[in-house]
Amino acid sequence: MNQVFVRCHAELNDFLPRSRRGSTITVPCAGHESIKNLLEALGVPHPELEALLVNDTPVDFSYLVQPGDRIEAYPVSALPALALAPLRPTLAQVRFVLDIHLGRLAAYLRMLGFDTLYRNDYDDPELAQLAHTEQRILLTRDIGLLKRSMVTYGYFVREITPHRQLREVVQRFGLHDQFASFKRCLRCNGLSQPVAKAAIDHLLEPKTRHYYDDFYQCQSCGQIYWRGSHYARMEQLIAHAAQPDQPET
Ligand SMILES: [Zn+2]
Repeated sequence: MNQVFVRCHAELNDFLPRSRRGSTITVPCAGHESIKNLLEALGVPHPELEALLVNDTPVDFSYLVQPGDRIEAYPVSALPALALAPLRPTLAQVRFVLDIHLGRLAAYLRMLGFDTLYRNDYDDPELAQLAHTEQRILLTRDIGLLKRSMVTYGYFVREITPHRQLREVVQRFGLHDQFASFKRCLRCNGLSQPVAKAAIDHLLEPKTRHYYDDFYQCQSCGQIYWRGSHYARMEQLIAHAAQPDQPET
């Protein structure tokens, strides 16, 4: 019986063709293949996997599949009910690196205070390297990028529109109580601090100078922020991100 039986649970089914979702998949197996490679060949990138059972026993990514194995693959949402140890250590600090398609999401995550690397000229090897060396969570819409072996922490962003993506990421990583809003530069990821109006007065447009007195300045790039007309919209976005169960409006 040179085959194994694979069941992908919950949101891991997003990576399977429709005909294979929610069912046990029979896969040919000659042995000597890691469980990680076998699942990636089915379409599931390894950073999305949080726990693996083979014949009811927990295994890690190095496990070599044997003919006849019954494999259960679980995403993060299944973990609490399973009471299993996750496949990788929990990160002490949540930090992100985002691919080229997620520029708006990067700005939104910075708005919430999360350390978020993004550049529109990072290529795939650079992104994987950054995720690896700095132990950052790689957020991407590119499943191939997520399958790179260098990536330990990563997540495929399902939603298309940036404000929904923000809410999705907040929910996926349980970030609701970690917001430090308006403390980080949207443009460069640097930290911003209050700055005296007199110190930057010469940089302000006349209307801004007239209507506003409280300013913040990025310590890295010098960008100046104030609570202007865009501020209410951003607060609304933050409130939306913080309430995952609220229906879409
Ligand atoms: Zn800046």
